[in-house]
Amino acid sequence: MTIVKASKKHPLYEELAAIAGEDRVNDNQVIISSYTQDACHLTAERPGIIVLPDTVEEVQAIVKLCNRTKTPLIPAGGRNGICGAYLPRVKGSVMLDMANMDKIVIIDEDVMTVTVEAGLRWAELIHRLDEKGYKLGFRGPYGGNAGTVGGSTSINSIGYGASKYGPSTEGVVSLEVILANGNIIKTGTGWKEGARLFARYSSFHDLTGVFLGDHGTLGVKTKVTLKIYPKAEFITYGDFGFRTLEDACAAFLEVQKRGLAEELNLLCDRQSTDTFFPGFLDRHHEINAMFAAIAQETDDQLANRKMEIIREIALEHGGKDLGNFASQMHWSEMFNLVQPLYNNGFWLNTCHLRPITLVPELMKRDLEIFKKHKLLKNGIKWIASCLGADRAFATGWVTIFAPDKNKMELALKAWNEMLDATIDSGGCPYWSGLLWENRVLKTVSKPFLDTYKEIKNALDPNNIFSPHVFEGVN
Ligand SMILES: Cc1cc2nc3c(=O)[nH]c(=O)nc-3n(C[C@H](O)[C@H](O)[C@H](O)COP(=O)(O)OP(=O)(O)OC[C@H]3O[C@@H](n4cnc5c(N)ncnc54)[C@H](O)[C@@H]3O)c2cc1C
Repeated sequence: MTIVKASKKHPLYEELAAIAGEDRVNDNQVIISSYTQDACHLTAERPGIIVLPDTVEEVQAIVKLCNRTKTPLIPAGGRNGICGAYLPRVKGSVMLDMANMDKIVIIDEDVMTVTVEAGLRWAELIHRLDEKGYKLGFRGPYGGNAGTVGGSTSINSIGYGASKYGPSTEGVVSLEVILANGNIIKTGTGWKEGARLFARYSSFHDLTGVFLGDHGTLGVKTKVTLKIYPKAEFITYGDFGFRTLEDACAAFLEVQKRGLAEELNLLCDRQSTDTFFPGFLDRHHEINAMFAAIAQETDDQLANRKMEIIREIALEHGGKDLGNFASQMHWSEMFNLVQPLYNNGFWLNTCHLRPITLVPELMKRDLEIFKKHKLLKNGIKWIASCLGADRAFATGWVTIFAPDKNKMELALKAWNEMLDATIDSGGCPYWSGLLWENRVLKTVSKPFLDTYKEIKNALDPNNIFSPHVFEGVN
């Protein structure tokens, strides 16, 4: 930030520079420009000034300053979301870039937790744990090279390892959060001064859950404590193809219910497999849907047996053994799997949660939309995929790729219809952001929203944290 000099026009520039130092505060529009979009096409207001705190004390001082001056404050992690969650809705905000707060604080081997600063990226965390002989349950979103622990747990991210361990939020034991009044709260067993951080539910109401998925509206997460597990060396892989999506879903559900797979990924039709793994199904003309399963254990016999059972379930549902190319590729390319898909064009996603039994209904609706808008004829490919996300539900990851700017208008038209179809057919977004917020606000029950607003008002009476999120864009 030092090469491009600050403009020093933001009303809080001097006070922020006094807290964090001039090198870590900048309001030059050149710097601001890189804080105006995430990994989706949506845009909103530009932040007024960027500050990169190094310590909890600096975050605390910045929050207090914003609260005193009633200045909007938006926490930013890797700015790698795909729903515009971190984009300000108001002018002149202070953007708190958590990138420098990326240390591992402690790996507590006795109680099997790791405490990290919220700006730590998932990819680095899993490599550092691997060196010490440990793994996480949820390993990070597929964009985990850039996504941070604080960002993901603030928007309920789902990704690697979720089929067995659930979404990012399920792995959280404790949070350290800076509240609007500057207080620091530690949740879980952290309620007790000096206690080890080993359990989420302890003595009091679950305050951890209040801050998970809050989209940065209730406080700044400075530390996150996550469960860890012994590293599991033995991995088995299996790909299975099915004539119909219904058969594939029935087998997928059975594998999910029985908790057999570390990661279970469904590709809902041939086009989706062709976009993801071109040529993979060329010799299997009868196959329409497939899933890729990964089992991981500390014991080779256990890992092998799990894959045998998955295979038995697949075959019982009319599945065909397709080998293990797709599953191996999926797992070994962790965090780099999705980027090559940009070769198909810019992506428009409809990531959301869905009972596995309702996957075929969505696919039917989406295929009608693809057909109506002649997407393939217009060079717009799709991937309709599902990742097992916990017991009997999945995250539906339906994405279309606009190959160039000329096709964007058509793709957006189809995508908007897909968003409606997703909600109408029983889907629930796991994050909101600009992508889903208007639709979510239209369908949320009044008592639910009112309760959220009461909590927000109580914790943040000056409405400094990410104002307008969950209250409509306007
Ligand atoms: C190639 C690619 C693949 C992806 N795959 C997946 C996937 O599989 N699953 C998935 O869920 N997502 C995926 N994503 C989206 C993205 O990686 C994740 O959503 C990620 O979790 C966002 O983390 P972030 O640190 O970038 O958060 P940001 O985008 O910076 O912020 C997200 C939200 O969290 C808030 N926030 C950030 N840090 C804090 C903090 N310390 N305290 C309080 N609030 C905070 C922000 O204000 C914002 O509301 C993918 C993205 C890309 C580009």
